[in-house]
Amino acid sequence: MARVRNPVEPPVVLTVAGSDSGGGAGIQADIKTIEACGGFATSAVTSVTAQHTRSVESTHVLPSGEVTSQCVAVRDDFAVGAVKTGMLATADIIECVTEQLHEVDAPVVVDPVMVAASGDRLLDPDAESAYESLIAESAVVTPNADEAEVLTDIAVTDTEGAVEAGHDLVEMGADAALLKGGHVSGEPVVDVLVTDGGVERISHPRVETAATHGSGCTLSAAIATHLARGRDRSTAVRESIDLLERAVRYGLDVGQGPGAVHHSV
Ligand code: PLP
Repeated sequence: MARVRNPVEPPVVLTVAGSDSGGGAGIQADIKTIEACGGFATSAVTSVTAQHTRSVESTHVLPSGEVTSQCVAVRDDFAVGAVKTGMLATADIIECVTEQLHEVDAPVVVDPVMVAASGDRLLDPDAESAYESLIAESAVVTPNADEAEVLTDIAVTDTEGAVEAGHDLVEMGADAALLKGGHVSGEPVVDVLVTDGGVERISHPRVETAATHGSGCTLSAAIATHLARGRDRSTAVRESIDLLERAVRYGLDVGQGPGAVHHSV
């Protein structure tokens, strides 16, 4: 039977990330965000975490071959408009995903997830160096201050440190680096977007809340979706930061821990 096609085709976004049973971060946050931003979410699950708003109780990492199979299945059937990567867990998975991305002609947003807001590790310590080749494939890499320091060896304690680390990431091959300012003290929060062409400092008020679980996932998924919708990079980043500010401001009081960001606000 012929398919009845909707005249408006949402752009397809692929998220390669871990599952968060608590629904606040990971694949679940990505799918909610991608759909809220007008995309069609597809996914490749890298690992299954048993967690809630308070902690990660256990993690089961999938074989890298299964991650590859999911990427291939999505690539085989969809015109992927953008990709985002989140929790990749091991060096082996990072390498397989990097290889898969060579086959995708679409912008890639790399959120170099290392540690959950609860403090639980989400990446093997020996996998940190494997990120370099994935970063070289990225249209935007979105580290927080701690992740930027691991990737560049530059201490990011203020905006100037963020700019320096951003230049380092661009030198590694990223088209752009968005250094998130949330972990750096001060008011307002200043996020820094560094490209070959210059530096944009994007300020926004700090929202005092402990409910930040899922914020990095939400931001990177939103950027990927806005890029897939054809926004230029600066607009995609600014619209996503606006969305994240609302997501944190109107956070959800779910679970017994600090809660979660509101992905579709
Ligand atoms: N991916 C998974 C599966 C997670 O569980 C988490 C945090 O718990 C993250 C990514 C990173 O979350 P955030 O967006 O808070 O940085």
